[in-house]
Amino acid sequence: MMELQNLIGGEMMNSESGNWLENVEPATGKIFSRIPRSGAADVEAAVQAARKAFPGWSSTPFEERAACLRRLGALIATHSEALIAAESQDNGKPVSLARAVDIPRAQKNLEFFAGAIEHFASEVHIPGGSEFIHYTHRKPIGVVGCISPWNLPLYLFTWKIAPALAAGNCVVAKPSEVTPVTAWMLSEWIAEAGFPSGAFNVIHGLGGEAGRALVEHPLVKAISFTGGTQTGAEITRTTAGMFKKLSLELGGKNPAIVFADCDLEKAVATTIRSSFANQGQICLCSSRVLIEDSLYETFRDALVNKAKRIRPGDPSDPTTKMGALVSAEHRDKVLGYIKSAVGQGATVLCGGGAAPAPNDRCKSGYFVQPTILEGLGPECNINQEEIFGPVITLQRFFSETEAIALANDSVYGLAATIWTENLSKAHRVAGLVESGIAWINCWLVRDLRTPFGGVKSSGVGREGGFEALRFFTEPQSVCVPTN
Ligand code: NDP
Repeated sequence: MMELQNLIGGEMMNSESGNWLENVEPATGKIFSRIPRSGAADVEAAVQAARKAFPGWSSTPFEERAACLRRLGALIATHSEALIAAESQDNGKPVSLARAVDIPRAQKNLEFFAGAIEHFASEVHIPGGSEFIHYTHRKPIGVVGCISPWNLPLYLFTWKIAPALAAGNCVVAKPSEVTPVTAWMLSEWIAEAGFPSGAFNVIHGLGGEAGRALVEHPLVKAISFTGGTQTGAEITRTTAGMFKKLSLELGGKNPAIVFADCDLEKAVATTIRSSFANQGQICLCSSRVLIEDSLYETFRDALVNKAKRIRPGDPSDPTTKMGALVSAEHRDKVLGYIKSAVGQGATVLCGGGAAPAPNDRCKSGYFVQPTILEGLGPECNINQEEIFGPVITLQRFFSETEAIALANDSVYGLAATIWTENLSKAHRVAGLVESGIAWINCWLVRDLRTPFGGVKSSGVGREGGFEALRFFTEPQSVCVPTN
């Protein structure tokens, strides 16, 4: 069985307690590896290693820090086949998705922030007639914590560590215990990429143990977290009074607003993707599809026809488009929501339960059918709570005002998708929807320079581009006389 280790101060090591956690392959339900069950002692060792490395790493010229990130990106490219297979096995996602999205994006994250730090500039204020110049000195914060979820494991892990390291911080990172493998693989190449010992440390373990210890540690001055809204709230409570910088990327209940004047074919095809990609386990997935009355039946029938053709398959099969859910616990949660929806009077238009195993190897895997529900109002828990699986609901609207009201009838505000050929309506609606991101006639198109994040219970702060570099630096205002 594969045994993963922590990376602390440049050394791969087991947890101090010697305890382990089992790691299960979602497609088979079988244990295939184990990870250190790290605790406060391991976090302490990692934080101390990071603290020791900080003066050296933060004063390393930015060109050299960028070169380390580029070399790590190149190592991802060199090992991409192994990473694609590992991500699929660990998460249950199809290899085709890991190949098209997860692993190339992880490489791109490192390369992007290598470039970003080379272009990151600070402000100077020279007031006319004044005898003083003011400039802003953006300093690395020190030791920072990066905590990432299981749905896009290496993609989101690198999205955090790259700007943190580029800006000159030393990092203690904790990947999700549910999908630890690719972060462990990456940690094995850190020295080869040229990072000094201790600049980057990885701790494996449970969120409530290792994650919590990292959040609580007084020397960890900033936490960049992506995960559930409840965990984000717990991190906020834990750090209250400690005055840490927090970046919180949390859950969503994203509306897709479909107007009658949309490009039907494009809207249906993309809504299938935005609903069911990665088994619906992307924070940006559409989960509430709002359709204008006059198009409702046409759009619904076209969507259902396409969804019925999606068959969950063995993730390791290169032709598979939908894989397994990440864990038995998560599958049961998703199935529980479907059952509850039916109990509340929902009509199941397709799917509605566990999917049959695609082959003998996968007979104990966690497969769920793509499911479309209609007939429930906005107040219903199925339209309010994040399900985070291949389950969407359809609702009908009669006017633009009603569409916006329905879209905003949520505690969440991460992403919205708007389908209309009327460009002024599209811009107007985008401006009125409460979301951090609005996609007009497209979905999941990303430019890494743009701010990324949510409003309301979907998060605090923005990632991406210079926003991330600003988060990972502390600005000091310096004032100096001109003579
Ligand atoms: P969780 O909140 O359960 O976990 C996220 C990470 O936090 C994991 O590494 C977890 O560790 C750790 N963690 C859990 N409890 C604590 C704690 N008390 N202190 C510190 N760390 C802790 O989220 P999931 O992994 O279940 O991910 C799914 C969620 O992430 C969804 O809500 C989704 O919407 C959201 N998400 C948001 C994105 C965004 O950009 N806004 C992008 C992707 C996902 P462990 O897993 O080991 O318990």
